[in-house]
Amino acid sequence: MTAARPQVPFFPPDLFAADRGLMLDLLQRIGRAPEQRFVLGEHTRRLEELLRERYGAADVVACGSGTSALTLVLGALGIGAGDEVVVPALGCAPLAACVTGVGAVPVFADVDPHTLTVDPCQVERRITVRTAAVMPAHLFSAMADMPRFVDLARRRGVRLVEDSAVAQGAVLDGRPAGLWGEAGVYSFVQVKSFGMPGEGGAVVTRDADLGRRVRMLRNHGQDGHRRFVHHLVGHNSRFDEIQAAFQCRRLAGLSARLRRRTAIAEHYTEQLAPLAAYGVRTPPPGREGGCPYVYTVLAERRDRLARHLRRHGVDSHVYYPLPLPHQPAFAPYTAPGDRWPHAERAARHMLSLPLYPHLTDGQVNRVVAAVKDFVRH
Ligand SMILES: *Cc1c(COP(=O)(O)O)cnc(C)c1O
Repeated sequence: MTAARPQVPFFPPDLFAADRGLMLDLLQRIGRAPEQRFVLGEHTRRLEELLRERYGAADVVACGSGTSALTLVLGALGIGAGDEVVVPALGCAPLAACVTGVGAVPVFADVDPHTLTVDPCQVERRITVRTAAVMPAHLFSAMADMPRFVDLARRRGVRLVEDSAVAQGAVLDGRPAGLWGEAGVYSFVQVKSFGMPGEGGAVVTRDADLGRRVRMLRNHGQDGHRRFVHHLVGHNSRFDEIQAAFQCRRLAGLSARLRRRTAIAEHYTEQLAPLAAYGVRTPPPGREGGCPYVYTVLAERRDRLARHLRRHGVDSHVYYPLPLPHQPAFAPYTAPGDRWPHAERAARHMLSLPLYPHLTDGQVNRVVAAVKDFVRH
């Protein structure tokens, strides 16, 4: 027996260790600067400009969180009371909460059993005369089938909002995640691919007019030229200057971090795909439309696999244990007897493995070995 090795953590305790000095330096510099400008200043403008150029958008608007970005988009599109928005049945609460937040009704559509992203056929089936928008979300490691959603939105005359909160840097058919719909969003909460130590997000759009409305809504309906003139009823979703300066500096390393995430995800898939016959299924392979944010397998005996991994020094996590329409908060928006069989099945079988850029090769191999060891028993 060798000495007990530390667990491979799912949520690493040292996410920003390499940039601690940078953060402390910015805290001092911006904190002591005579202008005492802590939100929506030059650093936020610079971050927006860097992201706008990087993705070829008409506008990028930094705001308080990914959730808030979704709310700002729905508001800027004029979606509200009496409207329905079709959202995935599987995913995180903001997908539905941003819809109820603007006074509209979330309608849940089932997911594809393999990619786990919302199925365009199921979305189309849920469209009614009240449908104002459809909002696919990229989930875990795969982008939703955006070409089909673009076609669907055009044919059915509904708006297309892209929840690309987890997919910053992903590309499908040469088009970046976030730029498929009328607007997309990015989240900068710590675990996301361009995460930071705090809350933040951005709206990304090809429509400059929509960008202008989002800009106003982010700061209580003001236009950025005259204070205390409110054109719209807006929100406080302003962006922090220290975080903006931090993100401007960290942007240079984003591609390398994404490449490392991709390499780890590809290695997992290569090594674990043969386990399908033993009830452990890997996500779809390939880089096209891949967003290596979370690596999720579908395991027949999910809870036993999680316990086995834990005993073998590997932490895992269940995203998400319940489909959204089964959540007490959102059940009131569903009809009795309605079902989402693929989302329900996935919620019972999904297990996410550690995936972050500073995982060492040794840790990656331990994860693989522990999963393989499980199917041998
Ligand atoms: C993280 C996430 C959000 C919300 O972003 P926050 O910054 O946490 O508010 C929205 N949608 C999806 C799919 C997410 O994963």
